[in-house]
Amino acid sequence: MDLYTEGDPIADTKAPDGPIETRWERRRFEAKLVNPANRRKLTVIVVGTGLAGGSAAATLAEQGYHVRSYCYQDSPRRAHSIAAQGGINAAKNYRNDGDSVHRLFYDTVKGGDFRSRESNVHRLAEVSVNIIDQCVAQGVPFAREYGGLLDTRSFGGAQVQRTFYARGQTGQQLLLGAYQALERQIGLGNVEMNARHEMLELVVVDGRARGIVVRDLVTGEITTELADAVVLASGGYGNVFYLSTNAKGCNVTASWRAHRKGAYFANPCYTQIHPTCIPVSGDHQSKLTLMSESLRNDGRVWVPKAKGDNRNPRDIPEDERDYYLERIYPSFGNLVPRDIASRAAKNVCDEGRGVGPTGLGVYLDFADAIERLGRKAIEAKYGNLFEMYERITGEDPYEVPMRIYPAVHYTMGGLWVDYDLQSTIPGLFVIGEANFSDHGANRLGASALMQGLADGYFVLPNTLPNYLANAGSFGKIDASHPEVVAARVAVEERIQKLLSINGDRTVDSFHRELGQIMWEHCGMERSEAGLRKAIDEIRVLREQFWQRVRVPGDGEGLNQSLEKAGRVADFFELAELMCIDALHREESCGGHFRAEHQTPDGEAQRDDDRFAYAAAWEYTGDQPVLHKEDLKFEYVHPTQRSYK
Ligand SMILES: Cc1cc2nc3c(=O)[nH]c(=O)nc-3n(C[C@H](O)[C@H](O)[C@H](O)COP(=O)(O)OP(=O)(O)OC[C@H]3O[C@@H](n4cnc5c(N)ncnc54)[C@H](O)[C@@H]3O)c2cc1C
Repeated sequence: MDLYTEGDPIADTKAPDGPIETRWERRRFEAKLVNPANRRKLTVIVVGTGLAGGSAAATLAEQGYHVRSYCYQDSPRRAHSIAAQGGINAAKNYRNDGDSVHRLFYDTVKGGDFRSRESNVHRLAEVSVNIIDQCVAQGVPFAREYGGLLDTRSFGGAQVQRTFYARGQTGQQLLLGAYQALERQIGLGNVEMNARHEMLELVVVDGRARGIVVRDLVTGEITTELADAVVLASGGYGNVFYLSTNAKGCNVTASWRAHRKGAYFANPCYTQIHPTCIPVSGDHQSKLTLMSESLRNDGRVWVPKAKGDNRNPRDIPEDERDYYLERIYPSFGNLVPRDIASRAAKNVCDEGRGVGPTGLGVYLDFADAIERLGRKAIEAKYGNLFEMYERITGEDPYEVPMRIYPAVHYTMGGLWVDYDLQSTIPGLFVIGEANFSDHGANRLGASALMQGLADGYFVLPNTLPNYLANAGSFGKIDASHPEVVAARVAVEERIQKLLSINGDRTVDSFHRELGQIMWEHCGMERSEAGLRKAIDEIRVLREQFWQRVRVPGDGEGLNQSLEKAGRVADFFELAELMCIDALHREESCGGHFRAEHQTPDGEAQRDDDRFAYAAAWEYTGDQPVLHKEDLKFEYVHPTQRSYK
C-alpha cells in the first residue's frame, strides 16, 4: 500500500513463558527491587488521575517514591472514570455459577476476537480478584446481597454473573476510593498534585523519558517538569469522532505527543461502538449519553417486524415484534458482546426497521422485567439511569421502551506497551485506556475499570520499580538541558502558531467535520473505498485547519479555545493513522468491521493466517512504519466466535 512502509517485527521481550498461571508470579519475583531508602530520591511523573493514574500515583507514593501527578480538570476526582456506570468484572465466583480465573481469561480473549495477548489477559484475570478486595477495604460501597455478600450482575460476552457494581455509579465510587488513597499521599507530602495542568510535550533525554512540558491552564505559564520516569494514564481518544459517550475533555494529546517522540501507537483503528446509547437527536449536540450495558440484563431489545411501522410501541402486538438478538443469538440473547449487538442494531436500521424520528434507533424494553420483578426492584437496580434517560428524552422508560442506538464509547488502541507496561521509549510507561492493553479488537463490558485498576494498583507498582532499579544512575538534568529547552520551545511555537492564524472558522466546526468523516468511513463499518476517501478528506481538512482556524484570546490565561485547538490538531494526525490502520487490516475483527470481509450471515470474518498480530505504528513525520507483533494462542484456540 502506498500509505505506509513495513519495518521489522516487534516482540514483547518482557513476557515470561512457561505455564500461563505462573507467568505473572515469576515476573514479579524476577523484578529487581529498589531499596526503600532510595525510593524517595526517585521521582515519577504520572499524567492522569482517573482510575489508572489515581491508583498508580497513590500506590507508588505509598511505596515511597516521590510522585508528581497532573490532570487538566480542576480536581483529580473529576477524571472521566467518574462517568463509568455499569460495573467491574472479577473472577470471585461468589455466585458459584462456574466462574474462575481461567473462565474470565477465556471469555476476555474470545471477546477480544483473538487479537490480544494471552499472557496479559491471564494476568488481568488473576489480579481482578485483588482489585475487589482492595476497593472493599477502601470502603467502596458495592451493591450487596441480602446475606451481605457482594452482589453481581451479568454483562455481555459472559454466561456467568461476575460484574460487581455500585448502582449505576460504579466508576464514581471506585474513583472516590482511588482519590482518597491519592489524597492521603498528597496530605503526607509524597504526591505533588498539579490540577489544571495540561501535558503538551514529552521530554526525552539520551533515549529515556525524563519529563513533560505542561501548560498551567489558569495562568497560561509553560513549564518543564523533570523526573526519573513518566507514566501516561491519560485515557482514550474516542472524541476523535466528535460525538461519543466520553467526557468533552477526553483527548489524545499526551499519547500523540509521546508517539511523535518515538512511542509506537498500536491498533489505532480498534474502536468500541457501544450498542446502548441515547440516539443522536440533531446537529446541535456536542456529546452522547450512554445507557449502561447492565440494562441488557433485564431489558429486551426489539424492533417492529415490518419496515416503517411507526405505531406507538405499546400498540405493536408481540407477534409483530422482532426480538432480533434473542432470535439470532439464542444462547447469549440480549447479552451478546458489544460489537455484535451494535452491528445487529445497525443492520435492522439499515433494513428500514429502525424506530424514533430518525429511524436510527431500536427499543430496549423493560415491560417484561417490571411485570416479573416489580417496578421497585427495577428502580433499585437502575433508578439513576432511568432518571437520566427521562431527563434527556422527556420519555418515561417505566412506561415506554427506551430508544437506543450505537455510539463511539471506548478505544482499544493506544500506545504500544510490553508486558511491563513500558512503551518503546525506555522510562515511559502507559496504563489504563491510554495503552493498547488487554482487550484486543473488542472490549467486553466492565473490563476497562478492571484493567485500569489492575494496571494502577497491581501491575505498574511491580514493573516500574524494576526499570528504576535497572536503569543505572540518572544523570541530573535541569531546565537548561538542550533537549528540555527544545521541548519547551516547540510547545511555545505551536501555541503561537495556533493563536496567529486568526482565520474564520471555529475549532469546534473543524472538530465536528472531522468527526463526521470518521463516523461515516471509520466507524461501525469500513470499506477500502470509504477509508481512502476519508484519508483524502482528512488531509484537505487538516490543511484548512492550519490556515483558517480562529482561536480567540491569547495564551496568557484561561483560554478553552486554545486548549481545544491543540487537541483537535492532534486528532487530525491520529485520524489519518486510524484510517491507514483500518485500511491495511484486510479482515474483520471485533470492533473493526470491514464490509469486504464477512461470513455469508454477516458476521465478522477474521483472517488469522495474515492478521494475527498487533499493529504497532512508528511515527516518522512522513509515511508511518508498521511493526508487527505476532500473537500466539496456546490456551484459547482461535475459532470463529459464536454466541449463537
Ligand atoms: C459513559 C461511560 C461509561 C463507562 N462505564 C464503564 C463501566 O461500567 N465499566 C467499565 O469497565 N468501563 C466503563 N467505561 C470505560 C471506563 O470508564 C474508562 O475506560 C476508564 O475509566 C478510563 O480510565 P483511565 O484512568 O484510563 O482514564 P480517564 O479516567 O479518562 O482519566 C484520564 C486522566 O488523564 C488526564 N489527562 C488526559 N490528558 C492529559 C494531558 N494532556 N495533560 C494532563 N492530564 C491529562 C485527565 O485529566 C484525567 O485525569 C465507561 C466509559 C464511559 C464513557
